[in-house]
Amino acid sequence: MLTATSFTFNPLQENTYVVHNETGECCIIDPGCYFGNERNELKEYIQTSGLTPKYLLNTHCHLDHVFGNKFIHDTWGLTLHLHEKEIPVLDQGPAFGLSWGLPFDNYKGDLIFLREGDTIPLGNDAFRVLFTPGHSPGHIAFYCQAQQFVLGGDVLFLEGIGRTDLPGGNFDTLIASIRNQLFILPEDTVVFPGHGPQTTIGYEKKHNPFLK
Ligand SMILES: [Zn+2]
Ligand SMILES: [Zn+2]
Repeated sequence: MLTATSFTFNPLQENTYVVHNETGECCIIDPGCYFGNERNELKEYIQTSGLTPKYLLNTHCHLDHVFGNKFIHDTWGLTLHLHEKEIPVLDQGPAFGLSWGLPFDNYKGDLIFLREGDTIPLGNDAFRVLFTPGHSPGHIAFYCQAQQFVLGGDVLFLEGIGRTDLPGGNFDTLIASIRNQLFILPEDTVVFPGHGPQTTIGYEKKHNPFLK
């Protein structure tokens, strides 16, 4: 049984997730911790909960989702998992950071590439990788079918969608990702988004103004 814990970090108010189960192993998804107190909060949560971080996962590599990649790598020795098409986005991060007044040290370790349909096991639980481009070229989501939730990054928000005006973004591609990858999931599926509160697939099918 997986439990998702969220933290909202950095001036862009990004949701970082730690997902663990009874084995004590956990995934860290999109660590946006930027300030020292945010890094301490994440580290203290993991330590006091007795968790062992096993995977560092990025849904995509906009800077607000990757500020903490290097910290996670340095602290727990994890290798970054991402989609190959996010490499240019990852590489652009520090330049964007400088221009937005948010300089940071980028992750420079090895990369492990995830593809659509890949399975990420955690004890007896597992995530399936969904390919959901449009907000960024190699955006992926992590779907837990057994418990009906998806860590959706910046694709689908509560009554909103991800922006498509950043490099590699495409509105039609984003809408197609939502319709073909997310809206085919059971209506009760909970969406844990990269920004803002959680929602469900069924609620967004009815109420999302971008998907009428
Ligand atoms: Zn983004
Ligand atoms: Zn974001």
